[in-house]
Amino acid sequence: MKEEFAVSLEETRERIKTARERLGKDLVILAHYYQNIDIVRAADFVGDSLQLAQRASKQTEARYIVFCAVSFMAEMARILCQPQQKVFHPELSATCPLAEMAVIDDVEKAWKLLTATGRRFVPVVYVNSRADLKAFCGRNGGFVCTSANARKAMEHVMGQDAVPFFFPDENLGRNTAHAMGISDDEMFLWEPYEEISPDLSGVAGKKVVLWRGFCYVHVAFKPSDIEEARKTHGDINVIVHPECIPEVVRLSDYVGSTSYIKSTVEAAAPGTKWAIGTEINFVERLRADHPDKLVIPLKEWGCREMARVTPQKFLAVLENLVEGRAQPEVTVDPEDARYARVALERMLAIT
Ligand code: SF4
Repeated sequence: MKEEFAVSLEETRERIKTARERLGKDLVILAHYYQNIDIVRAADFVGDSLQLAQRASKQTEARYIVFCAVSFMAEMARILCQPQQKVFHPELSATCPLAEMAVIDDVEKAWKLLTATGRRFVPVVYVNSRADLKAFCGRNGGFVCTSANARKAMEHVMGQDAVPFFFPDENLGRNTAHAMGISDDEMFLWEPYEEISPDLSGVAGKKVVLWRGFCYVHVAFKPSDIEEARKTHGDINVIVHPECIPEVVRLSDYVGSTSYIKSTVEAAAPGTKWAIGTEINFVERLRADHPDKLVIPLKEWGCREMARVTPQKFLAVLENLVEGRAQPEVTVDPEDARYARVALERMLAIT
């Protein structure tokens, strides 16, 4: 691919515009809310994981989809779009550290031990995961979920008298279970990093099995950040993402996915105050879009991996396409894609 030359931001913006015009209807750009402002401005659609999955599955016309987020999300677009379409990502090595906390060998080992207890489990994998784990869920009657529909997925599984085996984000699983009235005593935490096999007698009677994994961005928010915001701004509303630790969720006024946070702040009355516990790029944009409200980050904390997708790398993908070099293209093993699609479609069907 083209090198990322030291192109000024101004020139980059101009060239993005020109390349987009030349690609016309052949191109669709999908971007996550946590992306850089110049990428967001150029995108045809901006959303959270669930919205991007829905959009990718409906995007049947364009020849090329350029997907700006961490790379597992671009895999999701590859899985859901049409076979003749091509998906590109500006920085394939921009992976999600949370997604790396569950690997297929460890999940299969856990599955074997859990199912040997005789109880019925259904795997539920958070969208922040590799394609082979989504495929694992597809093969084993399970679901993909996002932070916007984790509860629906868990309720669906429990409605079938089965136990959700939820990975890799412990906090999302725990917060979702709490919201459903399930206590910590009713949850079993799988420790993937321990050498010895766990004592599985503890699984008996549990309603949910969680996996020890976390998002380093969202666990950075602490109860002291909430205390500080309330001390400084009095009647401020605190709204956080469910990947935050349970204590932070408990002390907050609202909890929900990125799209929920966005719509809640949008719908709020002018003059209201909001402290937001999620990725900084998104919070800064929300602040810029709502000058009639006080919008502040609970803490200035960004995702380094999302930030590796720069406007210059994005430009390089577009100019490669204009010049007939289709790269860097996102590929997924066909068998993994087939079964991952099953798990993603199950998610879309219950959403
Ligand atoms: S914000 Fe957290 S979950 Fe999202 S991509 Fe970054 S590390 Fe992964």
